[in-house]
Amino acid sequence: MAQERTFSIIKPDATRRNLTGAVTKKLEDAGLRVVASRRVKLTQAQAEKFYEVHKERPFYGDLVSFMTSGPVVVQVLEGENAVAKNREVMGATNPADAEAGTIRAEFAESIDANSVHGSDSAENAKLEIDQFFTEDEIVG
Ligand code: ADP
Ligand code: MG
Repeated sequence: MAQERTFSIIKPDATRRNLTGAVTKKLEDAGLRVVASRRVKLTQAQAEKFYEVHKERPFYGDLVSFMTSGPVVVQVLEGENAVAKNREVMGATNPADAEAGTIRAEFAESIDANSVHGSDSAENAKLEIDQFFTEDEIVG
């Protein structure tokens, strides 16, 4: 498969515990290249927009509060089959179900404070990347 891009967020529970490097190492060890990266504190509006697909879910309000509770690191990852590869190295949403060795199995605190976000399709990856980065900020 050709090179592909995906979008990643290192979530506030991970930045709070100084795990930015440890999470990034997992991504790099999986063959993903960080081609853009920025540490930011999401605004309420940014978090609401980003998680709009979950607007009707009961956890939406808590999710937006959590994602604005501290700094995050937004990243563009590049590599072969990057979307699927990132989902694999992230592990299941609920860390209790995540495979050993995955980011969430090793680092997540709970189903909500689960250390990382990763796009679930190439189409969503493009939309998510476009929300945070311009093309000239992505250097492969
Ligand atoms: P993923 O991040 O694995 O793609 P989802 O897209 O289903 O998972 O959910 C987005 C985020 O919402 C999750 O990463 C997690 O932080 C939070 N979340 C999902 N399900 C729950 C839940 N049942 N209770 C609390 N938070 C949840
Ligand atoms: Mg998702």
